[in-house]
Amino acid sequence: METLRGIPVSPGVAIGRVFALDDVRRRIPRRKVSEKQSRAELTRFEDALATSIAELQSQRERTELELGGEAAKIFAFHLGMLSDPNLIEPIRTRITGERVTAEYAVSQQFKELAERFQKMGDAAFATKVDDVWDLDRRLLGRLIGEHRGRMDALTEAGVVIAPELTPSQTAGFDRTKVRGFATDTGGRTSHTAILARALGIPAVVGLERVSLKAADGDPVIVDGDKGVVILHPDDETIAQYEAYSLRMQEFRRSLDEAVELPAETLDGVRVHVYGNIEFPDEAAKVVALGGDGVGLFRSEFLHLRAGRQPTEDEHFEAYREAVSALGGRPLTIRTLDLGSDKQAQGAPAERNPALGRRSIRQSLQEIATFRLQLRAALRVSALGPVRIMFPLVTNVLEQRQARMIVEDVKEDLADEGVPFDAKTPIGMMMETPAAALMATTFAKEVDFFSIGTNDLVQYTLAVDRTNEHVASLYSAAHPAVLRLIKEIVRAGSRRDLPVSICGEAAGDIEYTMLLIGLGLRSLSVTPSLIPTVKRVVRSVDVTMCERVARKVGSFDSERQVSAYMRDQTRAIIPEVFGGRPAE
Ligand code: PEP
Ligand code: MG
Repeated sequence: METLRGIPVSPGVAIGRVFALDDVRRRIPRRKVSEKQSRAELTRFEDALATSIAELQSQRERTELELGGEAAKIFAFHLGMLSDPNLIEPIRTRITGERVTAEYAVSQQFKELAERFQKMGDAAFATKVDDVWDLDRRLLGRLIGEHRGRMDALTEAGVVIAPELTPSQTAGFDRTKVRGFATDTGGRTSHTAILARALGIPAVVGLERVSLKAADGDPVIVDGDKGVVILHPDDETIAQYEAYSLRMQEFRRSLDEAVELPAETLDGVRVHVYGNIEFPDEAAKVVALGGDGVGLFRSEFLHLRAGRQPTEDEHFEAYREAVSALGGRPLTIRTLDLGSDKQAQGAPAERNPALGRRSIRQSLQEIATFRLQLRAALRVSALGPVRIMFPLVTNVLEQRQARMIVEDVKEDLADEGVPFDAKTPIGMMMETPAAALMATTFAKEVDFFSIGTNDLVQYTLAVDRTNEHVASLYSAAHPAVLRLIKEIVRAGSRRDLPVSICGEAAGDIEYTMLLIGLGLRSLSVTPSLIPTVKRVVRSVDVTMCERVARKVGSFDSERQVSAYMRDQTRAIIPEVFGGRPAE
């Protein structure tokens, strides 16, 4: 029996036998062709391109029907890439100019593009590498005549293990055959992970060497709740996991009632559970799942989806759609959280984008863009409750300058007679140690704080949040992170400032008691987790949570913190935990 740890990306447990998929990339030799043959190669390429576009169109339609609009956007993005002359034209030039085979030209072009994305060192671009390989594989499949082949050999239900999986492969999985999957590469936000969640297939990624260790037919367990894969589990472990799996199914059913009920502790303290969204249509999902509003709208996705700066009206329309779906519940808009490298294709990549010209820094350098987003957000404030917050603020002058621009925009709107809510709360994300350590000062400058643990952990612990090689060092349970959270909450409560938390830790139920015990009353989480978090809130009382927080404050390692929080959570909702051998 061997236990491997990776990144959990889609919940649930899969028990079965390994179905190994090979590396999707292939080596293609450079082969010169004659001038006449090069014309034939060009025709082959055009045919492969046309067939791939037709395949993608039907895959997009099928996915839209089966999995919904969000999942289908991935194929719309692929279609966009295949019609981008910047990508396709150089392939044609290589074929005719360098006189190489169509497959060589395609593989070189995609390899260079993937390397360029990888070098940008930014999570949003790193995830696009999957898409590049996916398209590469699709075109090569057409040119070299690859078929679905290997997947057709999966005749009985199995657990797919692969070095990596492309979004197309994942979307093509037959849910009745693929019980779960595990890959060497990947991160929580990759498109493959998003599809796994949409399909409801338990999945663990970033395992580094699982594909080398697992062979076809090996017994395996994929624990998508904890990010663990067990190869050759013994009978006892299998029995424990089977029992756990049954309890979890029961628990998931019990969540339905949490949707209707308020998130109120046993001693009657109201906690607000909000949703984090990337696209406006998700606001309706937040409401349907019993959320109290949107605690984080990652507005930069409007930009990333369009591949350009949205216009004021496009911003307005997106926020209007969300506000109207929320029916009086608040919408918290975070202004563009973009890095300079994400914006201008061809602009020189920064050496260290996480520490570079990004987020509020960029907005303050591109004031016209910033102003049009603020205008749209303020215009929507006339239609329902809106809050605006700025990402990655590290010094007071940034916050003051951003706020001054808001005031200026308000004056313009007033002059133009455009309605808006003059009292729209203006807040900031607390996602760096600098902001946390200065929380008392910042509390005088803002109307609310929102703690972004994803970045707070990264910057406090000096661990890249997207790097699978240091994933084991990345933990919100680290006492240094917890001290900063405590500091922020304390600074906020001294001035009666609302403080919420919107990083992934807010949706991890092992943290719920601790966060309530630290004084947090607003948690903003991935929409699908809203019922689970509400269910936990409804099972605890504040005194109990404060005791947990005091005890956690005495620990000096994240291991102790995690183990203790897990035990405490297990004591109140045993059905979620309970005797999994991986623990
Ligand atoms: C965070 O940093 O915790 C956060 C919520 O923002 P993002 O994940 O978009 O960086
Ligand atoms: Mg952040």
